[in-house]
Order: sequence, then structure tokens, then C-alpha cells
Amino acid sequence: MEKITVVGSGYVGLVAAACLAELGHSVICVDNDLARVERLRRGEVPIHEQFLPELLMRHRGNRLEFSGSLPQAVRSSSIIFIAVGTPPKENGEADLSYVESVAREIAQNLNGYKVIIEKSTVPVYTSDWIRRVMVLTRGADCEFDVVSNPEFLREGTAVMDFLYPDRIVVGADSPRAAALIGQVYEPLTSGKYYSNPDRVPEPDGASGSAPLILTTAKSAELIKHASNAFLAMKISFINAVANICEEVGADIEQVSRGVGSDNRIGPRFLRAGIGYGGSCFPKDVSAFRAVAHECGYEFDLLDAVMRINEEQRTRFMKKIRTALWTLKGKKLGVLGLAFKGRTDDIRESPAIALIQQLLAEGANIRAFDPAAMERTKEVLGDRISFAENSYQVAEGADALLILTDWEEFASLDLKHLQKLLKYPIVLDGRNLYTAEEMEQNGLLYVSVGRKPSALKQFVKVV
Ligand code: NAD
Repeated sequence: MEKITVVGSGYVGLVAAACLAELGHSVICVDNDLARVERLRRGEVPIHEQFLPELLMRHRGNRLEFSGSLPQAVRSSSIIFIAVGTPPKENGEADLSYVESVAREIAQNLNGYKVIIEKSTVPVYTSDWIRRVMVLTRGADCEFDVVSNPEFLREGTAVMDFLYPDRIVVGADSPRAAALIGQVYEPLTSGKYYSNPDRVPEPDGASGSAPLILTTAKSAELIKHASNAFLAMKISFINAVANICEEVGADIEQVSRGVGSDNRIGPRFLRAGIGYGGSCFPKDVSAFRAVAHECGYEFDLLDAVMRINEEQRTRFMKKIRTALWTLKGKKLGVLGLAFKGRTDDIRESPAIALIQQLLAEGANIRAFDPAAMERTKEVLGDRISFAENSYQVAEGADALLILTDWEEFASLDLKHLQKLLKYPIVLDGRNLYTAEEMEQNGLLYVSVGRKPSALKQFVKVV
């Protein structure tokens, strides 16, 4: 088994470190946020991820340790994963300064052959830049390889995605590095892990072994950006179709089902709503657009993807105004703060963006989210109030807004909700219900890409 360093203990680094320990490797997870390292050492779990607490409990202090010292970790491992943030710059490019500073620190502490693995999402050519930094810092005869091994995990199901991946992409330009990283993933590619009785339970449809796709480093870097851009495009595409549905009185849920049941298209990422968010799609689409431009290709399609995504929120704001007329002093209940269900991540969350607009127009917000309230408090402070459950959010509210697709928001007691609300209005940015079930329970329902009949009925009522 290998001795591995993972740099960064965020959503990707911490999950990767815990899962690599689960595969039998000895892992040091390094972060320069020393308070976070201390919390991890104490046994705290700083992010909301299914199975992560169990894996940390199983391996911490045993095969998994946490450290604030990158030099020490580098010197004791031959395989180093870089999983630090690559946030967007003002101009849309990825800010690679964290990656560069880690690469430089690795170079300063080389004490033998190392494989440096880009786990962070980075633009094509980053592997070349890392090589350059290494050579400039340590001279041309230092021994190392740079490999791109993009991460495809989704927040909320990150542990399962890591251990039961659709594919593992390894972009290695040297056979030595490819062989070493092949060993890292061997328990998954051979299927050995899947016969371990203590394994993390497999998701439905998991196969007996994980396929490994071996490519060049540049191809692997492009695979990650192209995959995220494609998924974002699917979301914007269906949102654009939803807008046509609203104009002609068709139902986007029926259209999505019909389109997505074509095997060539597939049903996933064809859910209409208030647009994508999170720490990946927005920044990765704009970074891919920027890198394409730098390479001399104008990827205009991605401009449309981003524009449609922005417009989706604007359109939802318009629906809120249409339903409520003025917003100043209105009391609004909000269900959902995270950018999607099953995570506490609010980075680029459409829910937070909408709340900020509503606050700017003078609305009073009371919100509930099963996991993201602490993080929201850090951003919005006491500008909104927080409820203890979904029903408390509705009490005396002028309307209820559903902004995140948590499963528990899809199975509310609608009769009870109707009684709690001051006005029986539900604006659903995630299409978790049908107009029929809402109306049967006396609720006026506005959603995305579906007949505005509820709205007409609402106008009559008021
Ligand atoms: P994050 O912000 O949650 O975590 C990054 C961590 O790196 C932080 O804890 C930070 O303190 C640490 N860090 C920064 N500089 C450091 C340094 N010099 N030394 C040690 N630690 C340092 O970010 P994330 O969501 O885990 O994303 C990391 C990368 O993975 C990004 O490139 C992202 O695009 C990519 N990615 C993210 C996801 C996702 O769902 N979050 C999925 C796939 C890929």
C-alpha cells in the first residue's frame, strides 16, 4: 500500500483522503488552515457528507492523519494529491495561485521521486506550469512526474462517487507515474474493494470494478472541464425549453421525461429550475470559456449556457413579484439555502443569490435548510432569521419559496402547510410538486416551465 499526501482538506481533499485510507493506503491530509486541522484531529467533521463521519472515525489516527506541515508530509510520501481550491478570478479565469504555491512548496521539499497529482479542477496546460515551477525551483535534474487525475464526485454523494466511480481518469505522460497511480486505485479497478464486507454500501447499479481511462495529462485536464461544461449545458438547455413551455402552456416535466428517455440523451441533469450553482459549474464553465479564448477558440456556446443560467434567477424573481406585487415588508418563508440538496455548501447557491435580491427589495426572510444554516449565518448574519423546521418557516408567511431540492421538502404535509401560511402561495424553484396536488390542498402554486394556470387562479382569488 502507498504512502500518500493529500493537500487540501475541503470537500474534495477530505473525501479523497478518507477514501484513500479506506482503500488501505496510509494518508496524510494537509491543510494550511490550522484551525481546520485541529478540528479534524479532534474528530470533528467539518462538511456534511454521507458516510464521511464513519470513514473518518474508522481511519483517523490509524491510516489517516491530519497535518499543517506540507514539507514534512512531502518528505514522507511519494504520491502527492493537490486538492486545493481553484476559485474564479474577476475575468472568469481560474485562480491557480494556490496550486502554484503548493507546487513550489513540494519542489522545495523534494527528497526523491514524487508523483504530483492534480486533483483540483484546473485548466489545460496546468500540468505544464507545475512542471515548470518544479524545474525552476529545483533544477532540471529533479525527479518527479505530474499527473492529472480529475475528480468527478458530487457533493452529497461524494464518498460513494469516489469509491464507486463511473470512471477514473488518469492523465499521465510517463509509464512510471501511470503505474504508481494505477496501484493507488487498484482496489477499485480490480474490484477487490467491492468484496470487502465492511465496504461503504454500493449505490444502485454499481458495477463490479471501476474502469480506468488512461490519457495524456492535457486530455485529462480537458475531460474535466468539458464534462462540467456539458452538464451545465444540459441544465441550461432544459431551462431554456422550460421557458418555451411557459409561453405555450406545455409541461416541462412531461417534456423532460420524453426527451430524457432517449438513451442517447439520458434523464439526468434535465431538471428545470432556478439554475445551477455550487463551487464547480459556474467557475468551471467560465474557466473553460476563458481557456478556450486563450487558445484562440471562441466557445460562444458557453456564453449562452451562462446567460441562460443567470436569466433563470431573474425570471424566478419576476414570478415572485407577479405573485406578491410589492416585496417591501413582505414576510417570506424560504425552504433551502444550499446550492442543491444533501449538502451544506452554499457557494454560488441560487437560493442565496435570490435571498440577497429579496432582502435588497425590503422583504423579511425566514429560512430553513437541513444542513446549510450555519454556513448561511456566516454570510448573511442576522439579515434573515432561521427556523427549526419546514413548517415553522411557513407560519404566518405571505408566501413559501422552495429554493433547494432537498428530498424532505418534496414530502411536506401540504394541508398543514396551507393552514400555517398567511396566504396560500407556494413558489417552487425546483418543481418538487405538481400543480394538481398543490391545488387539491388549497395552495396556489407557481413553478418552472409549467402551465401558469395556478397563477391565473391566484389572480382571480386575490
Ligand atoms: P475547498 O475550498 O472546500 O477546499 C480547499 C482546501 O484547500 C481548503 O481547506 C484550504 O484551506 C486548502 N488550501 C488552500 N491552499 C492551501 C495550501 N497552500 N496548503 C494546504 N491547504 C491549502 O475546495 P473543494 O470544494 O474541495 O475543491 C477543491 C478543488 O476540487 C477545486 O479545484 C474544485 O474545483 C475541485 N472539485 C470540487 C468538487 C466539489 O464538488 N466541491 C468536485 C470536483 C472537483
